[in-house]
Amino acid sequence: TEEKSLNFLEEIVEEDLASGKYKSIVTRFPPEPNGYLHIGHAKSICLNFGLALKYGGKTNLRFDDTNPVKEDVEYVDSIKEDVKWLGFEWSQELYASDYFDQLYAFAVDLIKKGLAYVDDSTPEEIAAQKGTPTEPGKGNEFRNRSIEENLDLFAKMKAGEFPDGAKVLRAKIDLASPNMHMRDPLMYRIKHAHHHRTGDAWCIYPMYDFAHGQSDSIEHVTHSICTLEFIPHRELYDWFIDKLEIFPSHQYEFSRLNMTYTVMSKRKLLQLVEEKMVDGWNDPRMPTIAGFRRRGYTPESIRLFCDKIGVQKRENLIDLSLLEFCVREDLNRNAVRRMAVLDPVKLVITNYPEGQVEELIGENNPEAEDGGGTRSIPFSKELWIEREDFMEEPPKKFFRLGVGLTVRLKYAYIVKCTGFKKDDAGDVTEVYAEYIPESRSGHDTSGINVKGTIHWVSVQNALTAEVRLYDRLFKVENPSNEEGDFKEYINPDSLQVLPIVFIEPALAEAVPGAPYQFLRKGYFCLDENSSSDKLIFNRTVGLKDTWAK
Ligand code: ATP
Ligand code: MG
Ligand code: MG
Repeated sequence: TEEKSLNFLEEIVEEDLASGKYKSIVTRFPPEPNGYLHIGHAKSICLNFGLALKYGGKTNLRFDDTNPVKEDVEYVDSIKEDVKWLGFEWSQELYASDYFDQLYAFAVDLIKKGLAYVDDSTPEEIAAQKGTPTEPGKGNEFRNRSIEENLDLFAKMKAGEFPDGAKVLRAKIDLASPNMHMRDPLMYRIKHAHHHRTGDAWCIYPMYDFAHGQSDSIEHVTHSICTLEFIPHRELYDWFIDKLEIFPSHQYEFSRLNMTYTVMSKRKLLQLVEEKMVDGWNDPRMPTIAGFRRRGYTPESIRLFCDKIGVQKRENLIDLSLLEFCVREDLNRNAVRRMAVLDPVKLVITNYPEGQVEELIGENNPEAEDGGGTRSIPFSKELWIEREDFMEEPPKKFFRLGVGLTVRLKYAYIVKCTGFKKDDAGDVTEVYAEYIPESRSGHDTSGINVKGTIHWVSVQNALTAEVRLYDRLFKVENPSNEEGDFKEYINPDSLQVLPIVFIEPALAEAVPGAPYQFLRKGYFCLDENSSSDKLIFNRTVGLKDTWAK
């Protein structure tokens, strides 16, 4: 097998281990529980857990839950389920909100060192005083408050003596720094809001920059990996750790995953859910892990995808078809083969005995070593076949049915088409054929060669199911880059429902999460809302890349 070169983060980790900087590494996956995880998060998960697995370290799952307003336990639960489903085990389940006392103590420490102050300015005033990238900011009278006064005011902020927005705690750094994040950034704001874990214990909440690095440090995270937009935050990340004299975690940045024909921000995905443009966070068209799972994607296929896209330091846009390629790779190997007729027309075998049902044997998976076992498939005089497998006036090289043409019925007999019937509207209602009794698959002594094989389902034995076919959720490659509201670019045909599809009886045993290949039609899985009264199958992906030239 070909030797893969190290990505830049693996190089850093190897150096740090070789130099003895660390004996082992600690990474973390730090989602904010304000939405479901998407395929971009999968990249971060595979990266963080992957590094620890490869180098014998550990990875914590840390909920970055410092913003009480948008967060919810529903999201915490879904995140845990999704990380597990992807195949990873965290070392500890942690919550930034568990550090609120410690973070408060850190803030007090900085005040005592003369490195933080309480500011009464409004957000507008603070923004105006910050200056611009080319012009230094200016201080205000609050910047010179005494340590005693700051300690007193900060304690009163915590005690709930001030309304929302009345005061903030700021780090006292450098109002002339070329890095705007260093111009006395906010550390705490007042927010009288209920938190999903700490309840009403707090009415001041730490800002991201004062929570994230300190949480990393508390956990002794060695390599804190985040996306590129945090590069300008790194200086502040290091400053807090340095001034607090705590464990030196280090931040490293990689480019986030962007994928064609979808959106990846939780804010936008939430809009699709709230405005009912999709059937919840796990709608099979959503780029969420839960959506992919319901659609029939496997954890292996998503991990393979993350491996293939690699880790870079530059923004890029990955083609959705690469993900589809990965899931086909996996499903071709592992999906059980079944027959289903999506757009049925009846085929009558005129020389087959009326009322007779013959049980034929079909291999479950020719890609599996032992063929994946077999199932029995009933065959009878009347079969459903795909409407597109018959043509009234077949062109040359149409290796399916048309009067006078011969095909093999998969797992069964060779048949020769003898005629057809139409209704008043001119639609074909029945196709007639004769079978060749000595041509049964596996026992064929007919000596006849046919070019085409088609799938079928016995009319009297067929089960019915609803089948849902999916297409891209958006009409354009990069909806977030288009003018106006991204929702204007939703593909109106992203879901096609086939209410009555005929399926072979063995599919009665289908369970959600098990992959099937419906011969010639693609990969399918049972939808989680399916019941024995109403079977519902989702198409995961077609057999071929229909978008390739
Ligand atoms: P969003 O903008 O979708 O809300 P986020 O970065 O705010 O994303 P978090 O819950 O904070 O979402 O993300 C948890 C982790 O996953 C972070 O370390 C973040 O960098 C990473 N992450 C989020 N989106 C992507 C992406 N598209 N590609 C790679 N990593 C991502
Ligand atoms: Mg975030
Ligand atoms: Mg976010």
